[in-house]
Amino acid sequence: MNNSYGLYRNVRNASWKFLIDFNICELPIDVFKICEQLNIQIKSYEELPEIISIIGQQGRTVDEEGFCMLFDKNWFIFYKNDYRSYANINFVILHELAHILLGHKTRIESNNGKILYTNKKNMNSQLEKEADMFAIRIMSPACVLKELNLHTPEEIMEVCRLPYIYAEKRAQRIEELYKRNMFYKQPLEIKVREQFSPFVSRLKTNWQTESIQEFISPEKF
Ligand SMILES: [Zn+2]
Repeated sequence: MNNSYGLYRNVRNASWKFLIDFNICELPIDVFKICEQLNIQIKSYEELPEIISIIGQQGRTVDEEGFCMLFDKNWFIFYKNDYRSYANINFVILHELAHILLGHKTRIESNNGKILYTNKKNMNSQLEKEADMFAIRIMSPACVLKELNLHTPEEIMEVCRLPYIYAEKRAQRIEELYKRNMFYKQPLEIKVREQFSPFVSRLKTNWQTESIQEFISPEKF
């Protein structure tokens, strides 16, 4: 597994590089598909109770929303399937993927040397913040929000499928970027905009068509 994204000095650049490397050009992003490409298995807690019990025997808690684990050289991401929205589950998995990709070194080795995993409670808040930032930036790239002229948490939620709490944060951040016109200062961001350009055009056209249809809808007459 390539952890080289952690080499980028900031999470923002790492997230642009990730979007480019994986040729992600549409929102909302499909984290299940990305993990498949990376050969990372995603399991809900219910799917592998024996692993959860091994971890439990070691006195670790598994009441977190999710965690990642290296088992016999294969990465797994576990998430608690408590029937929350797809957006929430997507975010939890992407947060764990961020820990893997950014090479956060807080993995713990088990007695038999087989299990290594990251656990939220053992990680410092800076790494948690970084994983959240990476996930937010992947799910809602600032340049795509700008091109679509999105502002409110509701708009961001709808297009990016970000959980509300993060969409709210993103809306605040994007407002600052709009005010300071802080876009396209880096070549990586320009590349991301180009990559998303067909998606942006398509969405804008759809929105236009929808509003025209609404306008000519027979119910109105
Ligand atoms: Zn975490």
